[in-house]
Amino acid sequence: MSIRLLPPNLINQIAAGEVIERPASAIKELVENSLDAGSTSIEVILRDGGRSYMAVADNGKGMTQADLKLAVQRHATSKLPDENLFHIKTLGFRGEALPSIGSVARLKLTSKHQNEEHAWALSIEGGHEHNLEPASLPLGTKVEVSDLFFATPARLKFLKAAPTEVTHTQDVLKRLAMANPHCSFTLKDEKRTLLDCPAQDPSDSDAALKRLGSIMGEDFTKNALTIDLEQDEFILKGFAGLPTLNRANAQYQFLFVNGRPVKDKILNHGVKVAYADYLARDRFPLVCLFLELDPEAVDMNVHPAKTEVRFREPGKVRSIIVSALKNALSASGFRASTTVANDTLSAFKPEEHQPSLSMNQDRAGFGTAHNTFKTVYSGSSPSSHGSSAAKTFTHQAQSPSFSAGTSFSSTRHHNGLRDSGSFAIAEALKQDDISSEITSESYPAQSDPEHDDFAAYPLGLARAQVHDTYVIAESGDGIVIVDQHAVHERLVYEDMKAQIQKDGVKRQGLLLPEVIDLNETQAQALLSISSELESLGLVIEAFGGNSIVVREVPVILGQTDIQSLIQDIVDDLDEMGTSEKLKQTIDDILGTMACHGSIRAGRKLSILEMNELLRQMESTPYSGQCNHGRPTYVKLQTKDIERLFGRT
Ligand code: ADP
Ligand code: MG
Repeated sequence: MSIRLLPPNLINQIAAGEVIERPASAIKELVENSLDAGSTSIEVILRDGGRSYMAVADNGKGMTQADLKLAVQRHATSKLPDENLFHIKTLGFRGEALPSIGSVARLKLTSKHQNEEHAWALSIEGGHEHNLEPASLPLGTKVEVSDLFFATPARLKFLKAAPTEVTHTQDVLKRLAMANPHCSFTLKDEKRTLLDCPAQDPSDSDAALKRLGSIMGEDFTKNALTIDLEQDEFILKGFAGLPTLNRANAQYQFLFVNGRPVKDKILNHGVKVAYADYLARDRFPLVCLFLELDPEAVDMNVHPAKTEVRFREPGKVRSIIVSALKNALSASGFRASTTVANDTLSAFKPEEHQPSLSMNQDRAGFGTAHNTFKTVYSGSSPSSHGSSAAKTFTHQAQSPSFSAGTSFSSTRHHNGLRDSGSFAIAEALKQDDISSEITSESYPAQSDPEHDDFAAYPLGLARAQVHDTYVIAESGDGIVIVDQHAVHERLVYEDMKAQIQKDGVKRQGLLLPEVIDLNETQAQALLSISSELESLGLVIEAFGGNSIVVREVPVILGQTDIQSLIQDIVDDLDEMGTSEKLKQTIDDILGTMACHGSIRAGRKLSILEMNELLRQMESTPYSGQCNHGRPTYVKLQTKDIERLFGRT
C-alpha cells in the first residue's frame, strides 16, 4: 500500500486513543477546560459510570459562537499565546481534547459568553459536526458527552463495570479539587452525590487545608504538618501527615506541579526516604505537596494526558521534597497524631466495656487499701482475683512503699541519666543483678514541688507506673500514658544516630576484597556515588570496565551479604538515580540494637527515671512514634476524660 495522509476523523480517533481512555479521562479534560476558563463552580454528572452520559457544567467565561466553532477543531486552542510550549500556565494547551471526544462519542457544547446575547450550542457525533443553534444557559459552559466510544466499539470492551469507572472519575476530580480550593466541585450519578466540595473563601488562610480535609479526611487536617519551603527557583508548599497517621499503601500521597496533579515516583520515593526512620517499610504516610517552579524547568508535554512530567533537575526536586519533609518532621518533635487518643477513647466506650468490667467484689478491701485499688476484670479467672500484681494500680503520691526496693540510688543514677542521655537507663537496666542495686532509701515518692510546673512539661510529671510497662503522667491538661519500651527504643535509636553523625560510621577492611561484576552503566552509576558510600563506611573502587571491588564495609553490618547489598543499591540507582539502601540497612541494624538496648516492658522504674524519660521525650525529635510508626504515648485531655465519665 502506498503512503497516504489519514483523514481528519481517523487522526482524531487515534488521538482519542491516547487522551480519552475511559470516562474519567474525558471528565479530566473537560474539568481542566472549566478551570482554565476561570470557573468557581463545576458540576459533574455521570450516568452508567459515564458510558451512556456525562456532563460538566461550569460558570467560567464561556465561548462565543466563533470560539465554539474553533474549539472542536483539532489543534485549536486559546492557550498558547506566545507559541512556546515551555511557557504554559494553563492545564490545557494541546487543543485536542474536544475534537478527540467528538470523534468517539456524541458531544454537545452549550456556552454563553458575555459578549453574546444568548447561549449557543454545537453538536458533533462521531466526528460529524452539526450547525450552531441558539440555546439557553446563563454564563458559562456545559459540555455533554453521550454514548462514549459508540464510534469506536472496540474501545467499549475495555471499559470496566460502572462502579469502577465512577471510582476513576472520583479520583480525577478529587485531585483537581485539591489543587483548586476556591472552586466548588460536585459529582453526582443517577442516585447519589459522590463528591461535594464547597468553594473555600479565598481570604481564608486555611482554605487549602480545609479543602484537603474534605478529601483526605478530617484526621489529616488535625494531624498535618505545614510544608513551606522556598529554595532557589522552587517553592514547595503543602501538608505532611504525622507518621502515626499512616496507611497500608501510597494512595494518599499527592503531588501537584504548577497546579497540575501529576503522578511521579519522585514523590513516593522522597516520602519514603524522609519517613524511613519513623515508619515500618510497609506503612505509608499521607502527604500532599504543591511544587511551583519555573515552567521552563519542567516538561509537561511528556504524555498526552499530561499526568507525567519531566523535570530538568530531578535530583534537585527530590532533595527539596526530602529536606522539606524531614525538616517538618523534626520540628514536630514528640507530637503524636490525635487519632491515637481518639482510638483510645473509642476503645474506652462505656457501653462496650461495662458488661465485662466490675469492681473488686471485696468492697472492704477496695475501701481500705487506700489509694491502692484493684480492678478485677470479670473476664479473668477467679484465681487472679485481687492478687494479680499486673492488675494493680498503685497511686504513687500517697503510697510510700511504691518505689521502695525498685529504684536506684537516686543521686548516682540521676547524674548518670543527665550526663549520658538515654544510654544510661539502658545500661543500668541491662544488668541482670538489678536487685543488688536496690537501696532501701527510695527516691521520695512525692515529686519535687518546684518541679510541679506543668506548663514547662508538655508531657507532664510522672505519677505512676502500671503493669511495669506504662508510665502514667499528669499534665496540665490531661493524662499521658507512655509505653516505656517503645519510647526508650526511640530515644536510644536517635542517640545512636546522633553518635554516628558525629563520629562517622566505623569501617573495617575486608581480608579478601570482594569483586562484583556489573554492567558498565551500573558500575559507573555506583562509582559516581562512591564518596557518599564511603561516608557510610562502604569503600568501593573501579575494577576493570564492568566490575567494582569492595575493600571496606561498615563494622556495624557484621557478616553481611555484600553482593546482594550492592545489587540492591544498583537496582535503586537504575530505577531512581539514587539509593538509600545502605543508610537504611544501617538504620535497620541500629533499630534492632536500640530495641535490645532499651528498657524492656516489665522493668520497674522509679519516679525519677520516669520523669527523665518524659523530659528526654520532650527534647528528642521524633519521639512521638516508635521506629515502626506506632505511637509511644497517648495523651488524654482532661475534657476527654470528663466526657468519658459523662461529666460534660
Ligand atoms: P485545550 O484545552 O488544550 O486548549 P481543548 O480541546 O480542551 O484544548 O479545548 C479547546 C478550546 O476550547 C480551549 O482552548 C478553550 O478556548 C475552549 N474551551 C473548551 N472548554 C471550555 C470551557 N469550559 N469554557 C471556556 N472555553 C472552553
Ligand atoms: Mg483542554
